[in-house]
Amino acid sequence: MRFRIDDPIDGAQGTELWDRADRVLPGGGIYLSRSADLAGRGVIPGFVASADGCRVTDADGRTYIDYLAANGPNLLGYQHPEVEAAAAAQRRVLTTASMFPPSLVEVVERLVDRFPPMAWGVVSKNGSEVVSLGVRVARQHTQRNRVVAFTGAYHGNDAELATAPPPGPLAEVTDRLDRLPWNDPQALVDHVDRAGDAIAAVILNPLDQSPGVATVSATADFVAAIDDVRDRHGVLTMIDDVRHGFRLHPDGSHRLLGIEPDMIAMGKALGNGHSISVLLGAEHLRPAARRIFFTSTYMFEAPPMHAAMATLEIYDRDDVFAHLTAMGTRLRDGIMTVAEQTGHSISYSGPPTMPTLLFADDADCERGRRFSREAAGRGALLHPLLNWNLSAAHTQDDIDATIEIVADAMAATPPPGPDSVDG
Ligand code: PMP
Repeated sequence: MRFRIDDPIDGAQGTELWDRADRVLPGGGIYLSRSADLAGRGVIPGFVASADGCRVTDADGRTYIDYLAANGPNLLGYQHPEVEAAAAAQRRVLTTASMFPPSLVEVVERLVDRFPPMAWGVVSKNGSEVVSLGVRVARQHTQRNRVVAFTGAYHGNDAELATAPPPGPLAEVTDRLDRLPWNDPQALVDHVDRAGDAIAAVILNPLDQSPGVATVSATADFVAAIDDVRDRHGVLTMIDDVRHGFRLHPDGSHRLLGIEPDMIAMGKALGNGHSISVLLGAEHLRPAARRIFFTSTYMFEAPPMHAAMATLEIYDRDDVFAHLTAMGTRLRDGIMTVAEQTGHSISYSGPPTMPTLLFADDADCERGRRFSREAAGRGALLHPLLNWNLSAAHTQDDIDATIEIVADAMAATPPPGPDSVDG
């Protein structure tokens, strides 16, 4: 379908779906990061009707080179034929039954082997469930209640882990969570020295990559402080690798930090679009894990386990991490060049596999939204606030086509000047 840059981003079908959605969905914070509302209504299309490789097609049949990756899962490419075949073959013989499917043992064996010294794993459907389970295991093991996380870091939809305490009675459920500043070793050490006997665990993402701000890696001193509070106060370390898993390091993002975690939570990319997540734990936490009652109806759904095993095999066989890095580096270099040519001062932060582009002097991200709208109108989905994700399906030609789109979109986005409102 032809798309003119001055057409609304949602065509007739998309617009009608929004009208219906606004009647039956709550809106607001509900689904926010998965909704085009986070980018700003009208910036990127509201609905995706189908997806293949690195492309998504909206409700009006317009196709885009996609860098949103379903907020993480699309690691190998949407509808990867081998992953889909593995899931479909299993679907023909078993989806969900009461007892364990054999593939449960197999998938956990593979994950435990992949991430030493993890010794056991619990498979579930979403990242949120396994992060929250990790918190329960930490509390059970330490017999302590409090948990430390870092300012703004997202750890799932459990009310207790909300990034900002909601108003009213819901605020009370976040009372046992202490949010400390990222990369402030002294704040962490002081806090744990004061309250260490009450703290079960530190939960951390491998990077600080909150929406709308430049990515910040952990400093060596910060990592040393995390090790220090574990050694001196027995505070457990849980890496929440739900979002970054397989995109920062093939053997787990903790390798990048040089941390040996007590637990790792993973999800998203693991199933390449099939619903599977896992909490992995070290041997010393096994007795605590055994004491916790945790179950859910679909956690033993077998096809996603087969999808995950296929994903892991292809990831290693095709050296996907090297490809993501190469494509991400090409994209970054191209974008840095066109930004300069078009007179934009940008920050392009984060690893090349998961970059975040922000414009300078753009505190409210208005220029970023304009750029994203211009890019979407030309056929690339580049979020103005969230990091982008490279996938194995992005080819050099896709990257080069994206750089051309970015060049045109940047040329159409006014840089800050003496007359601009925010320049
Ligand atoms: N932890 C992190 C770091 C995440 O990014 C997310 C999802 N965005 C989650 C946990 C929760 O995962 P899910 O949405 O699959 O429940």
